[in-house]
Amino acid sequence: MNSKDETLSIFALGGLNEVGKNMYCIQYANDIIVIDCGNKFPDESLLGIDLIIPDVTFLEENKENVKALIVTHGHEDHIGGIPYLLKKLNIPVFATRFTLGLIELKLEEHKLLRETKLIEIDSDAKLTIGEIIVEFFKVNHSIPDCLGVLFRTPQGNIVHTGDFKFDLTPVNEQYSDIHKMARIGAEGVLLLLSESTNAERPGGTPSEKMVGEQVMEAFIKADQKVILSTFASNINRVQQVVDAARRTNRKLALLGRSMINVVEVAIERGYLHVPEGMIIEAHEINELPPEQVAILCTGSQGEPLAALSRLSTGNFRGVEVLAGDTVILAAGPIPGNEKAVSKIVDRLFALGAHVIYGSGKGMHVSGHGYQEDLKLMLTLMKPKYFIPIHGEYRMLHQHRLLA
Ligand SMILES: [Zn+2]
Ligand SMILES: [Zn+2]
Repeated sequence: MNSKDETLSIFALGGLNEVGKNMYCIQYANDIIVIDCGNKFPDESLLGIDLIIPDVTFLEENKENVKALIVTHGHEDHIGGIPYLLKKLNIPVFATRFTLGLIELKLEEHKLLRETKLIEIDSDAKLTIGEIIVEFFKVNHSIPDCLGVLFRTPQGNIVHTGDFKFDLTPVNEQYSDIHKMARIGAEGVLLLLSESTNAERPGGTPSEKMVGEQVMEAFIKADQKVILSTFASNINRVQQVVDAARRTNRKLALLGRSMINVVEVAIERGYLHVPEGMIIEAHEINELPPEQVAILCTGSQGEPLAALSRLSTGNFRGVEVLAGDTVILAAGPIPGNEKAVSKIVDRLFALGAHVIYGSGKGMHVSGHGYQEDLKLMLTLMKPKYFIPIHGEYRMLHQHRLLA
């Protein structure tokens, strides 16, 4: 053995200046810890490609040094590549209870569930991996149970924020650990890696509670069916839809496989509270008066095979959008999806539906911090060095200027 290597390195295997397929690694001496392993969906310039995943050749070549995968939260751009990584390296996966639920769905699909070591953690966990001690803090985002990560290394403390915003009135009382972040900052942070998705947007991110108020108002006004489409993983938003349905005496049908799967995980693990008997099957919709029905469906990004698109073309067996129904698009289109979404909106209007869509209607807020949120993180952490991550190049650049 040669003398001990004390080099500390951080590398991005998913590409630094790209949104999607997030994957970062921290190495100290002979220990490598992987943070997240996402995928990215191809755009129309990549015909014939199903999925883009990080290149893990380096990790394969250093197999014996890779000790753990830590997952900050359950979005596809952070977990979508995990099955492909695990097929090459069987390493233990650390994540919170809800995140693990979503990872398990994926591993089941790839028949990897049995041989994978999944370890549930919460924000109080403390892991020792080689000479690195790993701790966590809760952050707000658009999915429950998100973590930021602190790595204590012999060279200094490194913080990875995960995806975050600051929500001072979070749904289901899921407060972020601002006090803990301040303590970490006071102790000293050598390097901060912070997400940059909304670094171009001035101000602070609005609270998820705002969406709940708008949804409630729309439900109260509606005198027929209400159909709402959002990201299945945004369980806090789903909770607010459930609350609005309860208040207006509606039963709730779930359309779309991912909606059904994710809601099931959320109920089972205690992240979503649905009154007994509220959820009905799609075929029961027509047995009820329309003012007693709400539908929660996938397809808010205009995906042609998802429920909302099929409803708009009259191709969802047994469920119809009728004149006078209310359709709510409670999600902002991801750049590139605008055209597909506006086609659906057109078709829904043609069916005579009352469609609530677009920004400014309060039916969507971002899960990523705006400039004031990013500044607050920088202020709390007071890092010596800073690397903006998670964003297109211009966003990383803006984040750097803010810092
Ligand atoms: Zn995310
Ligand atoms: Zn992300």
